[in-house]
Amino acid sequence: MKVGLEIHVTLNTKSKLFCTCSTTNALPNTNVCEVCLGFPGSKPTVNKEAVRQCTLLARALNFTVKNNLVFSRKSYFYPDLSKNYQITQFEEPLGVNGSIIADGNIRLKRIHLEEDPAQIIRNNKTLIDYNRSGMPLAEIVTEPDIKSAEQARLFMNKLSRILKYLNITDNVKADVNVSIKESGYSRCEIKNVTGFKDIERAIISEAKRQKKAVENNEKIQNATYGWDPLKQKTYVMRLKESEADYGYIYDPDLPIIKIPTQFLKEKLPELSDEKIARYTKQGVPLSDADIIAQDKDIAELFEQINLDPVFKAKWFRREILRVLNYNNQTILQSKFTKENVSKVLNLVYENKINEAVGKKLLEKLVVEDFDVEKHVKEHDLLKIDDSDLIKKVTAEVLKNNNSAVNDYLSGEQKALNFLFGLVMRQTKGKADPGIIRENLQAELDKLKSK
Ligand SMILES: [Zn+2]
Repeated sequence: MKVGLEIHVTLNTKSKLFCTCSTTNALPNTNVCEVCLGFPGSKPTVNKEAVRQCTLLARALNFTVKNNLVFSRKSYFYPDLSKNYQITQFEEPLGVNGSIIADGNIRLKRIHLEEDPAQIIRNNKTLIDYNRSGMPLAEIVTEPDIKSAEQARLFMNKLSRILKYLNITDNVKADVNVSIKESGYSRCEIKNVTGFKDIERAIISEAKRQKKAVENNEKIQNATYGWDPLKQKTYVMRLKESEADYGYIYDPDLPIIKIPTQFLKEKLPELSDEKIARYTKQGVPLSDADIIAQDKDIAELFEQINLDPVFKAKWFRREILRVLNYNNQTILQSKFTKENVSKVLNLVYENKINEAVGKKLLEKLVVEDFDVEKHVKEHDLLKIDDSDLIKKVTAEVLKNNNSAVNDYLSGEQKALNFLFGLVMRQTKGKADPGIIRENLQAELDKLKSK
């Protein structure tokens, strides 16, 4: 299988690409002006922040960034395009020859800036919302280097991480090219698939469709398909047009602009791959490092906590992420802070509370910030490491539960767990489970040998 993607990323700017209209959600056709509606005589001006974000993204994706910004008009007639042309970059894109490593090197042909067309809404009638017209997009075009749906998923995971680390939304739409060996790589394009998950699903579904067609001796037509996210299936839209059909011309309203040097030199944040490399160097297992670095905010909290990296990585992966998922919250939405998480992990690390108590504390802290040390004192949660007490409680439990003891001695393993539970309960869950189990076993062995 060969897959190539044209991915449109919505940049995270306050205003549109060529006018001052807001990019926030609003009632249909209220975020509009003469520029984004294409009134005769209106003149576009370039949004600097969009250029900055596209330049940073290009650099993070290893593109060679051009010095000049050159815009062209892509002419076509469609109701979502009131100017009858889309302002884009064609002959001279902002960046060329980038790459992403995702189970092999995936070459990125180009990245360029362009405006989004309006949104067509079809229910019983056809409606158009021009709020989207002129929204800033970065388009990334890959070479057909992706060889499986699995590799496509890894690729998109990498791209999604980079977007998040750069504070660009991971709002994406893609045109997906799929061809299979069995058909001699006859290319089909699926237009406008929204979201990373559906891009992967569309690839799987389209490859399956093509295989079936070849098996039935049908010819794979070089055509454009749509994606139905409800049916999870592709459908034929039209036979393919070529780029020449669009009649590109340089846009006479937009002079060539030099990309500001500060955008070319601005320091890129440390990205996910670099963080993973740094964490694994500190001894953190790759699988833990990968999951922690997936989210920039989690990675930042992880780095702020001063503790043995392997220990805290285990707690982040198993507990912090579990509690966040369970509460359906991001780290920023939660009440976790550097201070409260650090206190809990330190108490566990220093063996002052046991793991079960630590987990319970995190489950509370995710929804409510409180003074951890005070709470531990008030609720008497410090671990008992008094083995005399454990011995005493164990002796009492054995004395008062003759039938369970006899069950165990006659070979019922379950009785051991029952007795263990009783000792745990009597020490209020604060004693070291390992010591309890050891003690209990030793006492029972004594009885057995009698
Ligand atoms: Zn506007």
